[in-house]
Amino acid sequence: MMVGKGQVDEDRSSEFRALLREARHQLLRTVVVTDDELASLAAHEPGALVEDSARGAMADLLARLEGRERHELDEIQAAQARLETGSFGVCEDCGGAIPVPRLRAVPWARHCVGCQGRDERR
Ligand SMILES: [Zn+2]
Repeated sequence: MMVGKGQVDEDRSSEFRALLREARHQLLRTVVVTDDELASLAAHEPGALVEDSARGAMADLLARLEGRERHELDEIQAAQARLETGSFGVCEDCGGAIPVPRLRAVPWARHCVGCQGRDERR
């Protein structure tokens, strides 16, 4: 078990893992059209065995996302990866801890409030 550079302990990791999974689900839910797609979305959890047909439906869903949603999904997946590597919750600019309330509001946040603000003024 990796103990980390990250400020997020094991309990909190599970909390954010669930939040991110839910956010991803919500996002994909917006482009679901058919019951089949809904079923494949439900089946498509990390570690689940997904049949080829469901995989195809999932690819369709992903292809339907565009612009802001597509970007958001990428961010969610990047945050999921950071959770696994222990760098979740660390500001990418200053290396400081991103406050937990901010992470609860935006679990895929990459920057602390200060750096984010600077970014937006740029
Ligand atoms: Zn920062």
